[in-house]
Amino acid sequence: MKKNIYYSLLISAMVSVSVAEETRQVDKHEHGVGELNIAIEGNAIDFEFFIPGADIVGFEYEAKTESDIALVNAALEKFGNFDNIFSLPESSNCNLVNSEIGVNQDDDHDDHDDHDDHDEHDDHDDHDEHDDHDDHDDHDEEAHNEFVAHYSFNCENIKEIDRISFPYFTNFPNSGELEVQFVSEKGSTGFEVEGDEPFIDLKGKI
Ligand SMILES: [Zn+2]
Repeated sequence: MKKNIYYSLLISAMVSVSVAEETRQVDKHEHGVGELNIAIEGNAIDFEFFIPGADIVGFEYEAKTESDIALVNAALEKFGNFDNIFSLPESSNCNLVNSEIGVNQDDDHDDHDDHDDHDEHDDHDDHDEHDDHDDHDDHDEEAHNEFVAHYSFNCENIKEIDRISFPYFTNFPNSGELEVQFVSEKGSTGFEVEGDEPFIDLKGKI
C-alpha cells in the first residue's frame, strides 16, 4: 500500500498544495541527487523540482514531532520564495504565474497493519500505548519522501536567459547535486549541477 501525503502549509495564496496526479516512485530516488526539469515553450519557462527529504531536512520519515514539523515547514517556506532556489537574469523579465510546493511522502506500510490507528489517534485513552512508537523505528528508516516544487513563469525576453543560478545549494546545507533536464524548441540537454559551480549556462540553447 503506497500513500502520498502532502503536508499542507499555506504560506501565501501563491502557494497551493495538491495531490500528485501520477504515482511517483519516491523510494527509487537517490539521496544526494535532486531532479530538476526545466521546459521552455514560447514565452513560458517551467521548473519542476523533485528533491529527496534527505537533501533538504536530513530525514524522510513523516514529520511528527514539533521540531521535525518545524524543519519541514521552514523548508517549505524557503521553497515558497523561488529566489531561495534559483535565479533568472533580470533582463529576461520573467514573472511568476504559478507555483505549487509540497512534500510527497511515500511510506512502505505493508507490514504495519497497526499503522492506521497510530496515525488517526482513534484511541485517545490509549496514551500508554505510545511505547509502541518504538516499533515504528525500522519503519521510519524505510520511509522516503521528496520535496516537490513547481514554478511557472512568463517572460518578456525569454531569450535573455543565458544562465540560471541556484542559491538552493547555499540555502540547503544538506543538498547534494541537481540533475537538470532542460528542454526547449532547440532540443534537450542535461546538466549535473553542484554547489561549487551552482549555475547552468544556457547560451544558444533557447
Ligand atoms: Zn529516500
